[in-house]
Amino acid sequence: MLLELSDVTLEYGRIQALHGISLTVDQGEIVALIGANGAGKSTTMRAISGLRPVASGKIHFDGQDITKMRADLRVVRGVSQSPEGRGVFPGMTVRENLEMGAYTRKVRTEVDSDLQRVFGLFPRLKERERQSGGTLSGGEQQMLAVGRALMSRPKLLLLDEPSMGLAPKLIQQIFDIIVEINQQGTTVLLVEQNAQQALSRAHRAYVLETGRIVKEGSGSELLHDPAVKDAYLGVA
Ligand code: ATP
Repeated sequence: MLLELSDVTLEYGRIQALHGISLTVDQGEIVALIGANGAGKSTTMRAISGLRPVASGKIHFDGQDITKMRADLRVVRGVSQSPEGRGVFPGMTVRENLEMGAYTRKVRTEVDSDLQRVFGLFPRLKERERQSGGTLSGGEQQMLAVGRALMSRPKLLLLDEPSMGLAPKLIQQIFDIIVEINQQGTTVLLVEQNAQQALSRAHRAYVLETGRIVKEGSGSELLHDPAVKDAYLGVA
């Protein structure tokens, strides 16, 4: 098991956003978190990446208790997040943005080979290597954010809404790339509004409602679950 959350709670001031989340991600899996707006999906990601402290519960990653570990040290341990809203550095070029993602890495030749790997996954970023991040289209910024997260060579890649704001054709493409990244050996935990795509690509998934996990199963089980279909897939 690569990641385990045990009974994690998290508060924003007086608002309790997570009410005891327990979940696991095994090495090699793609696991999806789905749920309505405000269910706590992004908050769960922040708890894992260390961007918000948990109030109680435990987080174990790769055999270590990381519950109280600083966010930057979690990156060094192998957790990398591509945040919702992209967070590309607008004044830096595509290449510089990607190199920022490799700040934990020391060996220059490895950084270069990872850069080539990202350009292989996203040829469009290669074409725009010297363009500033702020001038990329929304979809291209999304690709850049995912590419940058990959540059730290994570064991676990956290993707928050990778399909957000993308045209249908690009949604397919970004999910194809996520599957490819996974097949190259990176474990993936992703949050998605697009439950249809997420469930059809994920090995397993969890359904969140108001800060609690209400259902879990394989992607295809949940894809065919009548209650999930009704609530999240727009078909009864
Ligand atoms: P969405 O799909 O809309 O992004 P989500 O499932 O990712 O939703 P979260 O962003 O995790 O939901 O929010 C969970 C709850 O915590 C919501 O009720 C939200 O209003 C609240 N919340 C999130 N961030 C903060 C914050 N910084 N301060 C106060 N409350 C917050």
